[in-house]
Amino acid sequence: MSMSSSPEPQKLSTQDIVRFDRVGLRYGRGPEVLSDIDLSLRAGTFNFLTGPSGAGKSTLLKLVYLALQPSRGLVSLFGQDISRLPEKSLGDMRRQIGVVWQDFSLIDHLSVYANVALPLRVQGAAPQTYDRNVRELLDWVGLGQRLDASPRTLSGGEKQRAAIARAVISKPKILIADEPTGNVDPEIGHRLIRLFGEMNRMGTTVLIATHDRGLIDQVPARVLHLQDARLYEEVPS
Ligand code: ADP
Repeated sequence: MSMSSSPEPQKLSTQDIVRFDRVGLRYGRGPEVLSDIDLSLRAGTFNFLTGPSGAGKSTLLKLVYLALQPSRGLVSLFGQDISRLPEKSLGDMRRQIGVVWQDFSLIDHLSVYANVALPLRVQGAAPQTYDRNVRELLDWVGLGQRLDASPRTLSGGEKQRAAIARAVISKPKILIADEPTGNVDPEIGHRLIRLFGEMNRMGTTVLIATHDRGLIDQVPARVLHLQDARLYEEVPS
């Protein structure tokens, strides 16, 4: 792999499901954590986001999830400039994004089953329409015996798998994951990557932040690299 020498503005397309134009982000009065980011994710693509710790990977994912507003520049999702949309529309957009945060953000007072079913409940689906899918998915990620457990009682790896199941259960248009294989052994890591690949084949646009070169080498995907607040695209050599 080699790196392109400067951050090239990427080609814009009407099929861009995510688009950043010269986006800058600073926290409070601090320096820009992200500067002049031009990013386009085409619908149905599989993308990795790499870079050293502190490079801004989580921050970029939060911008895509609309959990942060850019300090400057333009963020568009599903072809719409998000700065022009009311909060309700942003909520509707977020519901089309499955997300795995590094801290998992599971709800402790709900069971594992209820956590995973939550995105479907929020969409108003009736339990009988999703019960089998939720059980099958939890079986597949190895949590079939932990349906009624509280997330509090799960190991780090189990929490991660529950969070991933919750992110994919509603077949979101975009799947974002922050270091999704950080806590699991290699065999489970393989399984999770297969799951992301299957989601992608069904049309989900995938963006995964990771340090894990082994993971990146398993999937023929685009690799974006953050360094010194700038985004570079790795060019396969
Ligand atoms: P990465 O995910 O690549 O490790 P982050 O996006 O978490 O990087 O962080 C990028 C930079 O922004 C770091 O210097 C981090 O300390 C800083 N940062 C992240 N979140 C906040 C916050 N809420 N307030 C202030 N600084 C933050």
